[in-house]
Amino acid sequence: MLKPLFEAGTFLLLEKVFREMNYHNITKDDMLNGDGLRVVLWVAGCTHHCHGCQNPITWDVAGGIPFDEAAEEELFEALKRPHISGITFSGGDPLHPFNREEVFRLAKKIREELPNKTIWLYTGFLWEEIKDIPEIAYMDVVAEGKFVEELLDNKIHWVGSSNQRVIDVKPTLETGEIVLHNT
Ligand code: SF4
Repeated sequence: MLKPLFEAGTFLLLEKVFREMNYHNITKDDMLNGDGLRVVLWVAGCTHHCHGCQNPITWDVAGGIPFDEAAEEELFEALKRPHISGITFSGGDPLHPFNREEVFRLAKKIREELPNKTIWLYTGFLWEEIKDIPEIAYMDVVAEGKFVEELLDNKIHWVGSSNQRVIDVKPTLETGEIVLHNT
């Protein structure tokens, strides 16, 4: 039998090197994904596959369209508008391994160029799984955890099920104790 040219891990690496982050949409006056009016970047790719997910179309990391220079320009133009409070990274999962580098690059650029804008991030990962990533400190708020249909609670702000937490990142990192965002 012929030996494969590359190991599976090498294919993953090559795929990452050659493929940009994909996204589905940029919404520009969103009131449902964080405080104030927000720009939301809906990225492609999620490995969590929560039962009852409202956006299963976003699970495929190759779905949507490439997040290219024109998309970045559109994002920053929308974000600069004075009535916009900030950006929310959602999806899909912005912390899907293929998305992290690009999402963190954008978050850093927003911190530097638009320091008065807040940065929110939704992820299916638990805080405990991501808290040691240095770039998490770019975020103001992280809404974390998988959606659990049995724990659906329409009364909670910003997340869908009661296991999910909306975390105020700065005091949480400073104290080492989870501080929930005051909604
Ligand atoms: S983490 Fe979010 S996008 Fe991913 S499957 Fe769960 S609810 Fe859907």
